[in-house]
Amino acid sequence: MSADSHVTAMTPIFPGSVDPAGQRATLGVVGGGQLGRMFVHAAQRLGYFTAVLEPDAQSPAGLVSHHHIQTDYDDPAGLAQLAQLCQAITTEFENVPAQVLRTLAQVRRVAPSAAVVSIAQNRIAEKAHFAACAEVSGVTCAPYAVIETPAQLQAVQAERTDLLPGILKTARMGYDGKGQVRIKTAAELAAAWAELGGVACVLEKMLPLTAECSVLVARGWDAQVVSFAPQRNVHVEGILAVTHAYEGTMPLALATRAREAAVAIAQHIGYVGVLCVEFFVVADGSEHGGLVVNEMAPRPHNSGHYTIDACDASQFDLQVYAMAGLPLPQPRQHSPAIMLNLLGDVWFDAHGQPQEPNWYAVLRLPGTHLHLYGKLEARAGRKMGHLTITGPDVASVKTVARRAAELLSLPGLDAI
Ligand code: ATP
Ligand code: MG
Repeated sequence: MSADSHVTAMTPIFPGSVDPAGQRATLGVVGGGQLGRMFVHAAQRLGYFTAVLEPDAQSPAGLVSHHHIQTDYDDPAGLAQLAQLCQAITTEFENVPAQVLRTLAQVRRVAPSAAVVSIAQNRIAEKAHFAACAEVSGVTCAPYAVIETPAQLQAVQAERTDLLPGILKTARMGYDGKGQVRIKTAAELAAAWAELGGVACVLEKMLPLTAECSVLVARGWDAQVVSFAPQRNVHVEGILAVTHAYEGTMPLALATRAREAAVAIAQHIGYVGVLCVEFFVVADGSEHGGLVVNEMAPRPHNSGHYTIDACDASQFDLQVYAMAGLPLPQPRQHSPAIMLNLLGDVWFDAHGQPQEPNWYAVLRLPGTHLHLYGKLEARAGRKMGHLTITGPDVASVKTVARRAAELLSLPGLDAI
């Protein structure tokens, strides 16, 4: 990798531009999943060339990118090629080794940085960050204890019965509810820790949730910040099933607090790029004032997919703008929206036999926007695509969403 064409942090990378060496403005992404694919779509629409680093030959993002570097994420030759091709690089999954981003950042603009990604990769560091900015964000996380050693386990069993019933979560590599065990007693805690392999964990108190929401924030190199209004999320078996995005989906005071807290959380770590902050809404009158911060994802998020069809700038557009150093537009939502996640289960009937979903019936419904990620094999629980429903008013969006969910036998129907 050579540092001679390194673009300084604040120089905008203009779409469609060609540098003196004849190289076209190219944005890179580490990871080839659906988030990478939708990032590539947004970058290309603006006129950028794109490069994806992803070992899978048939990945959703690799299949649509100008360049697909097919190596492991930490392969030195692959990283050198990515840096050589691109003026700025981002990541689409948070478990990318932080060292990879650090290596790339020596020669290229990388957003978000290795430092902030490594905070989001570790629940212990993440909770410490939330605590450090609680005064400005106005929110705290659920009561918790760190368990990294048998001695800590015993101490928690003896002294932190206030955390029961609780959820034991691995500090690293959790997603879609994986790496979590719900426990009721101190004895169950020991068994759960053993079940999770005795790795670093946090035990979190189980809170009485009345709702969950998330906020997408984009912050530029120049500290300019824009955000979307909070969306309300419904999970089924630990996986996001439905996102509600329209005025009135949450009480206004709570929505305002969540949005301000997410902005403060991004500012406090000098974040650059799109950040998603997830919150719990807890029963009124609790010690938490109704809002608790859960976790953050250093990238666009499943709960923000509706922004593609319901807003004048999507979360992926903002990721492109932020990393390229372009002025960040304050996004405006023009339609109420509901997003339904499409898991691989949709491709199987009630008897487990493969079936083609009835897209004709779904697409006949007004305001349906189908996004399939180009994954070649459907498996139960695998995120294959999503369906966003937009419309002139909330009532008609809900009616169509319910009908679509029925046609596709989606879970979470009672939550629409
Ligand atoms: P993601 O796919 O969002 O990364 P994850 O596997 O990292 O999910 P969490 O977001 O921590 O896990 O938890 C998954 C879900 O479990 C939450 O959305 C919420 O429904 C439930 N949950 C987690 N922690 C708590 C808690 N302390 N009290 C009540 N419910 C909780
Ligand atoms: Mg989560």
